[in-house]
Amino acid sequence: MARYRGPSCRLCRREGLKLFLKGERCYTDKCAIERRSYPPGQHGQGRGRKATEYSVQLREKQKLKRIYGTLEGPFRRLFARAERQRGITGENLLILLESRLDNMVYRMGFSTSRSEARQLIRHGHFHVNGRRVTIPSFCVKAGDEVQVREASRKITRIQESVELAQRRGVPEWLEVQTDSFSGKVRSLPARSEITLPINEQLIVELYSKV
Ligand code: SF4
Repeated sequence: MARYRGPSCRLCRREGLKLFLKGERCYTDKCAIERRSYPPGQHGQGRGRKATEYSVQLREKQKLKRIYGTLEGPFRRLFARAERQRGITGENLLILLESRLDNMVYRMGFSTSRSEARQLIRHGHFHVNGRRVTIPSFCVKAGDEVQVREASRKITRIQESVELAQRRGVPEWLEVQTDSFSGKVRSLPARSEITLPINEQLIVELYSKV
């Protein structure tokens, strides 16, 4: 499946929820969903169709995929991995998504969005435990250290992101040193620490049908 290249705000409006895909703009009153909170398209303001059980489950899955910017294939593989792990599959899935390097970079405040984090990682601006990593889906573990490469610390986008993140806040399971542009994963988050408006059980039910 090809990567979506259309307007990001359209995805938020489709899901009826702020997915925070556009960085700083998402925190201002320019956010499209603040101004037009109905679905996009010609019939966006119509009465809409009655939601079926399947459509509710499907929308939940699309929402989660769009928040983390993953495609269907990798998302399925992550789900299969979550199923093989001990514990509750839905919670495992969320924790695996949170463990992605692009998410960590975003959560630590070195980028304003996950898509920006992906671009910065691919361009080689980050080290994990002292080694350069250019794979956005790289799985970070508890105790790992993520650091902006020394030569990349002057990049305006990264510096601005760090400033913005101070307003946005950093989750308690991460420890960030802004002066050394580094962050440590204290522990992977528990489900209660992932404050996304997602009902992961619906995704488990959806995938159990196919
Ligand atoms: Fe979504 Fe951000 Fe666009 Fe608002 S500005 S609709 S949160 S992508």
